Amino acid sequence: MNNDGHIKLNNTYLSLDETFYSLQAPEKVKEPSIFYYNKELAKKLNISLSENEIVDYFSGNKIIPDSKPFAQAYAGHQFGYFTILGDGRAIILGEIRLKDKLYDIQLKGSGRTPYSRGGDGRATLQAMLREYLISEAMHYLNIPTTRSLCVIETKDKVRREIELPGAILTRIAESHIRIGTFEYAAFKGMKQLRQLLDYTIERHYPELKNMDNPAQALLKKVMNKQIDLIVEWLRVGFIHGVMNTDNTCISGETIDYGPCAFMNSYDLETVYSSIDTQGRYSFGNQASILKWNIAKLAEALLPLIHEEEKESIKIAEEIINGFDEIFQNAYIKMMSKKLGLLSNQEGDIDLIMDLLRLMSKYKRDYTNTFFILSNNGNPFTEDDEMDLFIRWKSRIRQQDPAKTQKTMQNTNPAVIPRNYLVEKAIRDKKEFERLLKALKNPYDYGNVKEEFQHPPESEVGYKTYCGT
Ligand code: AMP
Ligand code: MG
Repeated sequence: MNNDGHIKLNNTYLSLDETFYSLQAPEKVKEPSIFYYNKELAKKLNISLSENEIVDYFSGNKIIPDSKPFAQAYAGHQFGYFTILGDGRAIILGEIRLKDKLYDIQLKGSGRTPYSRGGDGRATLQAMLREYLISEAMHYLNIPTTRSLCVIETKDKVRREIELPGAILTRIAESHIRIGTFEYAAFKGMKQLRQLLDYTIERHYPELKNMDNPAQALLKKVMNKQIDLIVEWLRVGFIHGVMNTDNTCISGETIDYGPCAFMNSYDLETVYSSIDTQGRYSFGNQASILKWNIAKLAEALLPLIHEEEKESIKIAEEIINGFDEIFQNAYIKMMSKKLGLLSNQEGDIDLIMDLLRLMSKYKRDYTNTFFILSNNGNPFTEDDEMDLFIRWKSRIRQQDPAKTQKTMQNTNPAVIPRNYLVEKAIRDKKEFERLLKALKNPYDYGNVKEEFQHPPESEVGYKTYCGT
């Protein structure tokens, strides 16, 4: 239990070779105060702290007893290019054990580390509030994600294009092991690679421990987990924005809410990130980028899959060749639920694809179209849309209407954190709390907060920025 004013922390990551981390205390800040504390999450984690302790520990001004703070080393392919990276502005305080699982407690924006390169190690209040809102929204949408425990305002100014107020976010994750951590280990050598494989399996997938070929099994597992995750993103219109291999978690959680955003009108080419000028990480590209990232994980794991490289490549290729079919099946299953199709029938895939084509043609709002359909309404006006609507109605007529509607309402959120709402909320604490409250019940059709359902009046030129 952690109810005596302490958080009981483990440091299992430090059992890895020392090339995997740098011991590093957070830099102190001048005038920290709590901007927001996630009491629900604290309770879930058995964390019970006084206000002073919250400020001291989550500003980094005091070290939790048992904590051995460190920054992780990792590498990654960023926009296709390999780089050695590491936590440039994040420090892990330790791991909390909850039932059989460990959860990292990490401070983000807590000062420079040996991996900061040119960066200042800091974060702005607005960017951390954005991560808080969107990560918590994802959690309540039932999508695997890192979570946000606390935002501390520092009163230190952070220099971006202009000076902005600084903050530190406390992030909770099943771990921060990424595909990029495996790329890093492979770059370092066999000892590190073996260690990381064993550690990862023990921490995340102990059921793979006694498999004939654990590396092969891990590759398959992570591929499946990540496919499930991306399909969930596609369900709610989420665009991650910077799907580099260092932002792809082995646990299958969504991580790093930098330039991410939710799509309004349906368009596969939607991109918000200011740096993604090529559309590499557009809404519709996310599955094929994931496949590319999984290939990078496979490359890193090759020496552990088989002692002969040729054989390793063959095994890895076989796994990755299965990607498209697994993804397609999962995607169609998810889209079928959005339309309330309770069993597979001939013509269902055509129905789904025709609907998406028309939504794209008439720039229909992705969330609201499915919300209206889930509420027994008709969101359409054009002739070809009406034809499709009739087709769909006659398809679901054979099913139990209550079951159909329940499936749709559990699949199609009534509210999502739309960009313009988030922008307003991160500038005004009252708005922040109001929006957060609405985002906690996205499937509550009996109590919809209509004011949070409107699409933006215009989003011409809307851009999100990473690393801010
Ligand atoms: P991200 O895009 O947030 O995944 O960050 C990519 C890399 O840049 C990570 O290694 C970060 O730790 C690092 N980074 C981002 N912002 C900063 C900053 N302000 N200071 C130092 N490092 C940073
Ligand atoms: Mg990152």
